[in-house]
Amino acid sequence: MENEYILKIQNLKKYFETPYGTVRAVDNISLKVRKGTTMGLVGESGSGKSTTGHVVVGLFPPTSGKIFFKNKDISVPLEKRSKELKKDIQMVFQDPASSLNPKKIIRDIVGLPLKVHKMVQTKEELEEKVAKLLEMVELPPEDFMYRRPVDIGGGEKQAVSIARAIATNPSFVIFDEPTSALDVSIQAKIINSILNIQRKFRLTSLFITHDLSLMRNISSEVTIMYLGKVCEIAPTDVFFQKPLHPYTQMLLSSVPVLTKEEEELKPKGIKSIGEIGSPIHPPSGCRFHPRCPYAKEICKKKEPRLIEVEPGHFVACHLYAEK
Ligand code: SF4
Repeated sequence: MENEYILKIQNLKKYFETPYGTVRAVDNISLKVRKGTTMGLVGESGSGKSTTGHVVVGLFPPTSGKIFFKNKDISVPLEKRSKELKKDIQMVFQDPASSLNPKKIIRDIVGLPLKVHKMVQTKEELEEKVAKLLEMVELPPEDFMYRRPVDIGGGEKQAVSIARAIATNPSFVIFDEPTSALDVSIQAKIINSILNIQRKFRLTSLFITHDLSLMRNISSEVTIMYLGKVCEIAPTDVFFQKPLHPYTQMLLSSVPVLTKEEEELKPKGIKSIGEIGSPIHPPSGCRFHPRCPYAKEICKKKEPRLIEVEPGHFVACHLYAEK
């Protein structure tokens, strides 16, 4: 049912003009996110995954294409979005240090959206709600409420960002590589907080990452992007058992595994070759063709369409179009 989908992105393009030419950061992508689920958006640096998140949250207007949220067209810049919509879609950024005001105490950082959206009337009410939000991200309120971002660690800063993002009780949160700037030792704590919040609030999210192992634990569906295009979409378990696109296979073959069983499941014979191309002068046809061991003549000339090969499993590759 179409109503199941809280977010629908249709033929979205986001181009940036630079002195060197037009950067086609996101180039005609479509995807849908089901209510109450997490879609993992995965790709190398330069794939367009973060730009997609920034367009959805309204930081950049789309160059063309549509974004529907709860069946309403929201393809407009942030300043033209309603207050209700801004409250309902939130984002957690990659670098917590640059997204928190260093001069404010944590109570005022987390409490700001509560004040902006008139969700609290008194100082006592504000402190009570902020305390509950801090508890949800495992920061004892008595230790953190009156401290400033400079006085706390990276993981704690990211926990504060998450508390701020969920303050307005949003339906949809975009997590943009929320652990990539953190030490490995504290990544697990942040991921646990996110998983708890997702379960408790039945939150719908877009989880942007380049880390496939992490994505496996956190998302129910996966979208793989390469150089501004979507190359594969699948439920997470199908994605790991039966990756179809050669780029997906290449990504999976380089993921470290712990057990022999997992090693046996890894795609064989796909080695990582070369580097992602330029989004200013992307390769013709299939953008992955200079790196693809299966590339044929048609791959250089014709862009493959995203086709559904089995229910819920989509791939953009000429190998499957022929079948
Ligand atoms: Fe490789 Fe061709 Fe498929 Fe692209 S379309 S992934 S180049 S086989």
